[in-house]
Amino acid sequence: MSSSPVQHVYDDSDLITQEVLKRYESTPDPRLRAIMLSFIRHMHSFVRDIQLTPEEWTAAVELLQETGKWCGPGRNEFIIFSDALGISMLTITQAYKRPPGATEPTLIGPFMLEDAPRFEMGTDISAGAQGTPMFAHGRVLDSQGKPVAHAEIDVWHSDDRGLYDVQEDLATKGPWARAKLFTGADGRYSFWSVLPVDYPVPQDGTAVNMLRATTGRTWRPAHLHFRILAQGLRPLVTHIFDRNSQYLDSDAVFGVRPSLIGDFVHHKAGTAPDGRAMSQPYCTLDYDFVMIPD
Ligand code: FE
Repeated sequence: MSSSPVQHVYDDSDLITQEVLKRYESTPDPRLRAIMLSFIRHMHSFVRDIQLTPEEWTAAVELLQETGKWCGPGRNEFIIFSDALGISMLTITQAYKRPPGATEPTLIGPFMLEDAPRFEMGTDISAGAQGTPMFAHGRVLDSQGKPVAHAEIDVWHSDDRGLYDVQEDLATKGPWARAKLFTGADGRYSFWSVLPVDYPVPQDGTAVNMLRATTGRTWRPAHLHFRILAQGLRPLVTHIFDRNSQYLDSDAVFGVRPSLIGDFVHHKAGTAPDGRAMSQPYCTLDYDFVMIPD
């Protein structure tokens, strides 16, 4: 039997953890050091706790490899895992202490695109997406209730199949139901599009398999995504959910907050709030956003 200290370390699982932690203690950046030491402690503890086997760990690593194959512009499968495990909402909730009256943030989801096409306020952003016509409007306000001028609003959402443009071939069919708008001096926003519907997390990736094997909750309640940026104000990433959805209490990714549930009101054919004559039924949403100082 060898008396080498190296042999000793690798025969004793507690000593493995100690040796690894000792090495990472030399990480120069203090925040990175704190993150790595805590991560290693928790991961080693997890492996011990469930007596993780080498075969199970290999399967996990292969799952990460497969998940990477489902990532590209406008689609990040890892975000769906983060969302479905509640980690996205946990980081947001502990980072943003929301003053009363301010709009709550929620997760960004996997389908954001940075270079959305710009539209003039009040125009139709559906760009060929199918669904019930919807007119969304409201104001962007600061916490004093003053209109926020020149706010940059990104909006993106599903069509009536529950799909996003990035789930099809963007180069030939998109983008659609996705826009960048800028508020004027009155802080008002408005646009026409189509009513989003409830949809399941993408059926072709890896995260859905995890959900099917565990919670069985794969659906998201219908919603519009917004990201609002304005000078001197904290960036706001949020959704407005449809009060009519049956999935408000079972969102696959834990994103619903009561204050983010909006009234998507159904109307018969007639005159819309912006004066547009509608020959078919349509919906309206009136929702104000309140941003807080950065
Ligand atoms: Fe979404």
